[in-house]
Amino acid sequence: MANIPPLDDDVAALVQLYAAAAQRLEVALSAMLVQEGPRRFIIFQRIIRILEELKNGTSAWAEKFIPEFLDSADFSAVSALEASGVTVPQFGASISEGAVRGIALSLTDNLNKASASVQSLAQRIFRSTALEREFPTLANQALREVGSGLAGGEANAAIQGRIGNLLREQFADDVVTVVASNGRRMTFALDYYAGMVAQNTKAQARSFATLERAAQAGHDLVRVTPNPSKGGDWCDAYRGRVYSISGGSDIYPPLAGLPNGGPPFHPWCKHGLGVYVPELSTDAENREAAATDPRFLMQPGEEDPNRVIRAWWEANSAGTLPAPIRNA
Ligand SMILES: [Zn+2]
Repeated sequence: MANIPPLDDDVAALVQLYAAAAQRLEVALSAMLVQEGPRRFIIFQRIIRILEELKNGTSAWAEKFIPEFLDSADFSAVSALEASGVTVPQFGASISEGAVRGIALSLTDNLNKASASVQSLAQRIFRSTALEREFPTLANQALREVGSGLAGGEANAAIQGRIGNLLREQFADDVVTVVASNGRRMTFALDYYAGMVAQNTKAQARSFATLERAAQAGHDLVRVTPNPSKGGDWCDAYRGRVYSISGGSDIYPPLAGLPNGGPPFHPWCKHGLGVYVPELSTDAENREAAATDPRFLMQPGEEDPNRVIRAWWEANSAGTLPAPIRNA
């Protein structure tokens, strides 16, 4: 099973919900594999109830935390803008109910897909009259275990335990199947997937609130949060860098040129956007913030980034800045 990266507490709250449900589902699914008829139906209903509870828990989490994510990003944006002397329209007015709902909807949509995937597995087991044909890797082994256990007079609990292990293997790696927007099928463990979606939602909310507030205040510059990625991901190349929302800046490259249109750059990416005010930063900080890959600013067909570096340096140094950092 894939390891879950370190989680923020708010995200961990949702992951715990999914991990607990995953355990209960595993017990129920393994019981269903060795039951027949009406008993199987009762267990199937139990699974539906667990998934329903999970859905409610997910909505409750979204209701509590998504406004918090948006608010804290908005608070940072407003603070930075006010510190720079920009008059910020009424605090809190930036984030609409619609935005909260939209972000919540994309989270619950994704997570409900995961639940639906578990439900369809449960349904297939429930309806199956030939488990060994439909679940060649899982049920065959499980039924063999039962067979050998019965033949050897093995205790029922031990058999259940062995089936549990088989199911756990399946459950950890292969139960949740999600079809990505590019059509690729991806499978995740339930709790891993919930963590990934929640973490991404958090980063998306941060970027969204920042962009909303910047647009409202007519502010063009945003910065990728400077925190390092946990795993030394490629997106570290962009951390702390500043981008132009409009794409019209001579110094800072367009935000739209970033992979994925800006952070979060990839699943588990903890980078977001913050408002950037050059007047509040030192020359050195501004230089560092702009010292991005100068190829972003090259004209079509241009191959040597030195013109860009030179132009930027001349426009900004006024003789006070040291030579620009060379692109590695
Ligand atoms: Zn990142």
